[in-house]
Amino acid sequence: MAAKTGKRWQKQMQARIEKERETAVSQLRDLGLSPEVNGVSAQWTADHPRDEGDQAQASERADLGFMTRERLAERINRLTVALERIGEGTYGVCEMCGAQIETPRLEALPDATRCLACQERSERERAA
Ligand SMILES: [Zn+2]
Repeated sequence: MAAKTGKRWQKQMQARIEKERETAVSQLRDLGLSPEVNGVSAQWTADHPRDEGDQAQASERADLGFMTRERLAERINRLTVALERIGEGTYGVCEMCGAQIETPRLEALPDATRCLACQERSERERAA
């Protein structure tokens, strides 16, 4: 059976990715304004609004917030790339081997850029 990665499917994925990207963008915005949404105390925000500053006692929390912001920013980047690839018509193509990425994998992980085999291989290589 042919992969169900037709125009219609791509449109559905595009809508989904756009929505996920919007969510991530607003999460990132929320995080900047009020880190407590991620389990970081509101006190720190009140004392140091958006300040990456030199307060030693705040550094641990700041790191936590920074990591989460980094992760979100990374996710937004990946989703943006996915949208660009949909626009270019290369969405769902493995960046390593050029094969079509498994449809269930893309549906579970819309920003995936590698097929399962390549992903597993690169994870093995990283672990080695
Ligand atoms: Zn591959």
